[in-house]
Amino acid sequence: MSRLSAIALFFIMTVLAPFATAQAINLDSVIREAGAGANTSRVADLRRWKIGNYTVEAQDKKAYVTINGTRIYTGRALSCANGKMFVQKRDWDKHLAPIVAPSKKDVPAAKKIVIDAGHGGKDPGKTEGKMREKSYTLDIAKRLQRILSKHGYTVELVRSNDTFYELADRSKKANALQADLFVSIHFNAAESKSARGVETWMLTPVGEASFANKTQKKKADTGNRYDAWNLLLAYKVQSALANKIDAEDRGVKCANFTVLTELKCPGILVECGFFTNAAEAALIARTNRRELIAQGIADGITAYAATLNTLKGVKPAPAKAPATSKRTNSLLRRR
Ligand SMILES: [Zn+2]
Repeated sequence: MSRLSAIALFFIMTVLAPFATAQAINLDSVIREAGAGANTSRVADLRRWKIGNYTVEAQDKKAYVTINGTRIYTGRALSCANGKMFVQKRDWDKHLAPIVAPSKKDVPAAKKIVIDAGHGGKDPGKTEGKMREKSYTLDIAKRLQRILSKHGYTVELVRSNDTFYELADRSKKANALQADLFVSIHFNAAESKSARGVETWMLTPVGEASFANKTQKKKADTGNRYDAWNLLLAYKVQSALANKIDAEDRGVKCANFTVLTELKCPGILVECGFFTNAAEAALIARTNRRELIAQGIADGITAYAATLNTLKGVKPAPAKAPATSKRTNSLLRRR
């Protein structure tokens, strides 16, 4: 090799290679190709598009996008250059497209749901005063089971009493039950007493680092087959839950949680609030708050299932008019 070509090769390997592996694409082009209108933001470093029922916002240097106000954390920060907004191709594929332009291929079912009440038995989870996470997760799981059963879903619980299960055994149980969907219920704690709100976690896609972790994931887990559906489910549940209980929306984040890695169906882990925030803990201790949390998660699952049906071309069943409504009307008319 000549000295010149050696220098050229060195230049390519060290200077250009990082750009080649990090494939950035023009977000404005790709989102408009997917059906979005023109950017309506008047701020230079912020872009805003309408696509279907969604408002998508992306800002320079932020490692997230927002969809109808909910943050979806991305693997890398977005960047503005020459008046254009760039996003990593992987971030578009894994963190945006599955919500705003979901695929009609291999759409999963959403009939059998397995709910995992976090912790249990010898593992109390987070504790704060008299509050034990394991009791509160079980309470939410049972409420969620009741609500979803009423909606016609088949619902199984990983644990229905104060039993300890290893993390891997929880997903094994869901797989053995041939679950279509898995949701693990947890409560949060933080050093900062002011931290509050709800967040939903999905399995980290390959090539990305988990939230608050710099190491890139090298090998796919079984659960990564469902990256796109994990995100759609996480987004629907996160936005529905935050709206239902009017809590701070902490967004959709990625982690390689053991309970999610071996799942053979879409799955998420929901953190339903902070024990370490006095105001939020006082709310969680109330029955009506816990019922609302369960309703919010159920709303999200129902919205996810409705989206799957739309993608499959299944028309929603016509809403049944309440049995009494006609009679009431005619009585009114007679008066
Ligand atoms: Zn927990």
